[in-house]
Amino acid sequence: MAIAKTKRDFPLDRIRNIGIIAHIDAGKTTTTERILFYTGRTYKIGDIDEGTTTTDWMEQERERGITIVSAAVTTFWIAKKDDALFKDAETRINLIDTPGHVDFTAEVERSLRVLDGGVIVLDSSSGVQSQTETVWRQANKYQVPLIAFSNKMDVVGADFLGTIQSARDRLGANALAYNLPIGKENEFKGVVDLLTKKAYIWEGDQTGANFNETEIPSDMVAEVEKHREELVEEIAGTDDILMEKYLGGVEMRVEELKKALRKAVIENKIVPVLAGSSLRNKGVQLMLDCVVEYLPSPQDIAEVVGIKPASEEKEIRKADPSVPLAALAFKIQVDPHVGKLTFIRVYAGTLKSGSYVYNPVKQIKERVGRLLLMHANDREEIDEAYAGEIVAAVGLKDTITGDTLCDEVAPIILENISFPDPVISLAIEPKTKSDQEKLGFALQRLAEEDPTFRVKSDPETAQTIIAGMGELQLEILVDRMKREFKVEANVGQPQVAYKETITKVAEGEGKYIRQTGGRGQYGHCLLRIEPLPRGQGREFKSEVVGGAIPREYIPPIEKGVIEKEDTGILAGYPVTDIKVVVYDGSYHEVDSSEIAFKIAASLGLSEAAKKADMILLEPIMKVEVTTPEEFLGEIIGDLSSKRAQILSSESRGNARVILALVPLAEMHGYATAIRSMSQGRATYYMEADHYETVPSNITAKIVESSGFTGRVER
Ligand code: GDP
Repeated sequence: MAIAKTKRDFPLDRIRNIGIIAHIDAGKTTTTERILFYTGRTYKIGDIDEGTTTTDWMEQERERGITIVSAAVTTFWIAKKDDALFKDAETRINLIDTPGHVDFTAEVERSLRVLDGGVIVLDSSSGVQSQTETVWRQANKYQVPLIAFSNKMDVVGADFLGTIQSARDRLGANALAYNLPIGKENEFKGVVDLLTKKAYIWEGDQTGANFNETEIPSDMVAEVEKHREELVEEIAGTDDILMEKYLGGVEMRVEELKKALRKAVIENKIVPVLAGSSLRNKGVQLMLDCVVEYLPSPQDIAEVVGIKPASEEKEIRKADPSVPLAALAFKIQVDPHVGKLTFIRVYAGTLKSGSYVYNPVKQIKERVGRLLLMHANDREEIDEAYAGEIVAAVGLKDTITGDTLCDEVAPIILENISFPDPVISLAIEPKTKSDQEKLGFALQRLAEEDPTFRVKSDPETAQTIIAGMGELQLEILVDRMKREFKVEANVGQPQVAYKETITKVAEGEGKYIRQTGGRGQYGHCLLRIEPLPRGQGREFKSEVVGGAIPREYIPPIEKGVIEKEDTGILAGYPVTDIKVVVYDGSYHEVDSSEIAFKIAASLGLSEAAKKADMILLEPIMKVEVTTPEEFLGEIIGDLSSKRAQILSSESRGNARVILALVPLAEMHGYATAIRSMSQGRATYYMEADHYETVPSNITAKIVESSGFTGRVER
């Protein structure tokens, strides 16, 4: 097998694993395209408006113009400016695509976890919106060092300093201008680098247009001084030696300022903000220079922390190719040419093609087939991937997203990613038996790729229920199921994922006794249930003493309880925020069995729950609507009719931004509704916020239509 050896001797400090982070429409796809163009790996620039891009290679993504998959693309960049840190050193930039739509929060979080740094794309014409806030906060959660690219400087209403201010106000981020735009809107021509005081002006709007280093425009000199002073003061504030110089009025060299800024960015103390317009091809190259100069290499990142599977003790690994392997599978993707790809971040050690690796989560060994570096238009086969690198592996069968791969002699489990509970579901009914089989396969594949997507089957209706974080996510999954896996099926309307819970302590007795000749059945338990605080989930405990129930029957009791909790009691929704205690019972020497205790537990739980004033909980969404002033009244009126709690309504530029909490149940079809209310000019965005009690009149209706309550359970 021919193995490309090119570029394999990369020192760790010349790798940047970064993500372009943005909310939908800020310009992430366009920016990514430009990066790929300027780093020389795409030859024809894709234009998202025409639906041909490199990272968005899944069909429906193209159609929708959004990025769902987090493909990792490997590119190279050299910072050539005379005053650049790492000047002339070829740097490998692994671009990990992060999705912008909040329906795919898990994807965003998963990709953030494997990044060392990020470029957050802001929309200069609309400042920091809720969605930006969400992705920014997610980045902070994983302490991803950031630089910001204030895109769309060419758009009417673009406001660079205003965008920075909104990042400071809304996020408390220490965002600082790193350069200043020269002109704006139609007149946006270039930028002034504040540290070097050099101006860069592009010769045109077209892709690949030249740019020249020139003097600062004379009318900007004072402004440049002012913002330079601000930046320098902040940088100096992060470094004792520089602070001394600053206070002493000693001039600081650009290089020492850059080095200190690099450290401050890596420590999340400063977020430098750059002006640009990806569509007009301005500022992207300078942003790439900043990626090299300020974002961390794998070497700058503290070691990776995991746990030892046997003892659950903390285990630390250095980013060193010679220590035992520790790697994380962060993305499964089906590549049209190569088949199933597992994207892996190697944190420690070396991953070799053709070797066996241990998956401590599944407790299996898996053979790694080929290892690939995915470039935008081609793939490079490699034989080894070292600590700090990101590669795609072919041939892993059972490893799913979030699993660790390691050396069997030194097992480690890297912290897994926590996924939110789904808030919406829909039913799928395959048309034929062969569709049923294809569906099973399709869902398994899709679930491997997206852990927020859950599948369960409803034995009573023979339907398959899929659940996720939003309508759009489910729509796309159904689309893929039909298109890629050719499943013919009837698909139901999206349903809100309600939950059931109890509001007071209650007790119940479960008896499952059958003694009619021969060996009978005997299971008997007494349960107490208690409400838990919202969001706490479930607990199970045994307080049985004196062998009233032999120990081996406690696990089956727990199983019976969980099964019942999963099926639901009031209206068929899972029961949550509940503690179940088994405190007594009895058994029979001969007739008792695991199954009898399981059934008894389920009966006992039903009985207790019915005495515990059950209620339904519903997902409440945080909704942000941005609208021209003239539609404000109608939109607020409509929201109020949807049981919304309006949190705020403020002016932003010439638009009004309404923030509200609205039950998901009321938001069905909102995209169409808001379009018609505002002649298509208002936009909205929502994400799951929390669960809240459903008003009792609505609960009654849901319970009634579920046909669930009062079902005879014996
Ligand atoms: P994404 O949803 O974040 O991936 O954003 P896209 O890259 O798809 O951009 C959303 C829209 O904004 C598209 O119509 C782009 O053509 C447009 N766009 C992106 N960057 C710029 C820019 O710098 N200036 C202008 N005027 N439009 C832009």
